[in-house]
Amino acid sequence: MPAFKTLDDVDVKSQRALVRVDLNVPMANGKVSDATRILRILPTISEISEKGGKVILLAHFGRPKGEVNPEMSLAPVVSTLSDMLGKPVAFSTDCIGPMAEAAVSNMNDGDVVLLENTRFHAGEEKNDPSFVEALAVNGDLFVSDAFSAAHRAHASTEGLARHMEAVAGRTMQAELEALEAGLGNPQKPVIAIVGGAKVSTKLDLLSNLVSKVDMLVIGGGMANTFMAAQGTDVGKSLCEHDLADTAREILAEAERQNCEIILPSDVVVASEFAANAPNQTVAAADCPSDQMILDAGPQAAAAIGDKIRTAKTLIWNGPLGAFEIEPFDAATVAVAKIAAEQTAKGELVSVGGGGDTVAALNHADAAKDFSYVSTAGGAFLEWMEGKALPGVAVLSK
Ligand code: AMP
Repeated sequence: MPAFKTLDDVDVKSQRALVRVDLNVPMANGKVSDATRILRILPTISEISEKGGKVILLAHFGRPKGEVNPEMSLAPVVSTLSDMLGKPVAFSTDCIGPMAEAAVSNMNDGDVVLLENTRFHAGEEKNDPSFVEALAVNGDLFVSDAFSAAHRAHASTEGLARHMEAVAGRTMQAELEALEAGLGNPQKPVIAIVGGAKVSTKLDLLSNLVSKVDMLVIGGGMANTFMAAQGTDVGKSLCEHDLADTAREILAEAERQNCEIILPSDVVVASEFAANAPNQTVAAADCPSDQMILDAGPQAAAAIGDKIRTAKTLIWNGPLGAFEIEPFDAATVAVAKIAAEQTAKGELVSVGGGGDTVAALNHADAAKDFSYVSTAGGAFLEWMEGKALPGVAVLSK
């Protein structure tokens, strides 16, 4: 039984369900260019609609900073949403006030209405009680289905949940269950992979992980900062030399906590950050002073793969190298494939997410075999940092 309320705990028939979703989708030329996020919210909308509930969708788009900005209207999302849902979706040009109230009072059981961008009102990000009240008049219950916005205590993510009966939608539920299996209550041994550009953006995350996981792989540009802190010359590599003390503290804490740190034993170096730049593989300690490390080497990738084969749970954030430019995607791809293989065999629970990780796992054609890939950015990272997310905390039973 989940520790939070779900759609199984309520009867939505003839109820007006205010459903907070993530419609912050990429757009190009006024059209949705990647519908992944829309795909994810369909199960909740369909279920409530099929059970005879009225679905009133709340979402933000972009950062209009509390003012109406036609460029950040949700109107262009309606046709894609309606096509994917296979039923009409009405639209209200305001999320509160007479327009919203009229749109909602016109609904029949099973209908779906999308209300305009909640962030067109300053009360949204301020979690202003009068704005919460204005949203709440249109609903009988609140369904939270936007994990990606749950790290913010905004009116439509947290305020409403304190104002009325609140449950997790199916997408939120799946996300929370996957995260619980990944870090909340995982099967051991647990291995974490943290890569990406900079240590400075992931300090809290690293500090939390060393106390929770059995093995921690540090890759990408971040690994350079750790190697430099241990006295290795990393040449022209991306490296935060001012964080050397911090890196050493994290290593010392890992040792105290019995967390094995895995840094690359070999690396791929080049003289410029460019696709197909001439490159060579060298031992991690041998980066030429005029070159930069752009990927972990094959020996390192194989060693990480071997560690994954000993683990029962993997959580992954950040690529092992500059995966957008070939051939510096090799280690990320090789390791992602091993994780996908182990997962497909039933040997591993694998959870990935945050920032570029989704793109990296998709690039490796591995995402489809992962147990769960989170499309949430900031919320996924805050969860990996061990922080309580306000929009999740309010759903607890
Ligand atoms: P993040 O958003 O922190 O997960 O960082 C992802 C970015 O880190 C990607 O754009 C990668 O190209 C970059 N990155 C990974 N490894 C390296 C490296 N060794 N040198 C420079 N950039 C890197």
